[in-house]
Amino acid sequence: MALEIIPIGGFSEIGRNCAALKVDDEVVILDLGLHMEKYIEYTDSDDIVDMSSKSLMDIGAIPDVRTLGNLSKKVVAVCLGHAHLDHMGAVPFLGNKFDCPIYGAPFTMEVLKAMIKDQKIDLRNDLIEQKENSRFRVSKNIEIEFINVTHSTPHAVLIAVHTKYGVVLYANEFKLDEHPTLGNKTNIQRLKELKIKALIVDCLYSTNPTKTPSEMIAKQMLKEILLENDTKGRNIFVTTFSSHIARVKTIKEIGRKMGRKVVFLGRSLAKYALAAQDANITNFSDITIVKYSSKVKKFLSKLSNTDKYLFVVTGHQGEPKAILSRIINNGFFNFKPGDMVIFSCHIIPVPINYDNRKKLEDSIKQKHVRIFRDIHVSGHASREDQRDFFAITKPEFIIPIHGDIPRMEAMKELALEEGYKEKDVFLLKNKEIIKIN
Ligand SMILES: [Zn+2]
Repeated sequence: MALEIIPIGGFSEIGRNCAALKVDDEVVILDLGLHMEKYIEYTDSDDIVDMSSKSLMDIGAIPDVRTLGNLSKKVVAVCLGHAHLDHMGAVPFLGNKFDCPIYGAPFTMEVLKAMIKDQKIDLRNDLIEQKENSRFRVSKNIEIEFINVTHSTPHAVLIAVHTKYGVVLYANEFKLDEHPTLGNKTNIQRLKELKIKALIVDCLYSTNPTKTPSEMIAKQMLKEILLENDTKGRNIFVTTFSSHIARVKTIKEIGRKMGRKVVFLGRSLAKYALAAQDANITNFSDITIVKYSSKVKKFLSKLSNTDKYLFVVTGHQGEPKAILSRIINNGFFNFKPGDMVIFSCHIIPVPINYDNRKKLEDSIKQKHVRIFRDIHVSGHASREDQRDFFAITKPEFIIPIHGDIPRMEAMKELALEEGYKEKDVFLLKNKEIIKIN
């Protein structure tokens, strides 16, 4: 009997995050994410596509849990780290394959509930909310601890799996933000107390030799554009990640300071804003939220004094069907020269996003509307944060996840710089099971 790490998704690739741990005869699954690029490509086509879990696994859009084989029956818990789709978006397709509860922090579970309702999925698993910094038993051999961490969505947790063979820390996506604008700083104190056998850790930005700036910086950047600029008489649209509640809250607060009426336009904004309220993170009940594009068109057509509003909209990657593209390209709004569109995000580095953003920005420019790009800071640890994280957690073994081979190798190089031996760092592919002794 031993401790085994079973890589299922997100190893030597970016997306569909999923790792399983086998502890004697029990298994716990950590994250069930979507591979966003493959999932969007597959579902974006006009044809009716087969959304069965088999088809989605075959094309690599969701974790291929067939890797587990008969061990699927031994799964005692599915634990979700946070509410980003590349970490929990595959639950509607795979949850029913496991006869066990699904655990997550309140915001994560509120988003999951909204997704299941939207997709009309009959999920049989119990959905159990566990607070940040709580510890709970899921079976005779396994205890789980959620440790709060800063990231670009609320209630993100690192998952410490306590076993008789030691602690495995699943740290998939985090930053070390000393000045978060919402929620607490990363619980470094608790991380220092843990004696970590193996660390499964996000290496997405291991090739980025810097420290990721604080969310406070993004707030300052938005303030400079919106409060220290002459915005009088200008129509202003801001787009950002709908799940980035800290950022959305900042935009709302700045809109208030400008004396403008803040409105949210778009389905995903509505979903995440309501989930944030249901999870008692923040209150958006004083915000007008318009969900569907047909309603958005009507809403905008009836408005006068549009320069007294601050419009927060979906569609930051230039998605043709999202609200911002429709507003720009389908004549939902009469722009005038000097109006402003603020992208409080970065372009997620895949070809389809570069194409869509280029098309959208060209249309915006044709209207002589001003574009403010990259008013954003990342939610991911960069190389120097990862170095600090190794020093804080002092794991015996390091297993990079959420990165292609160059990123995983960059993290290995970093670990060697910090005194680790080749044998202590595992660069795994999906399905490449290892035993930890
Ligand atoms: Zn994330």
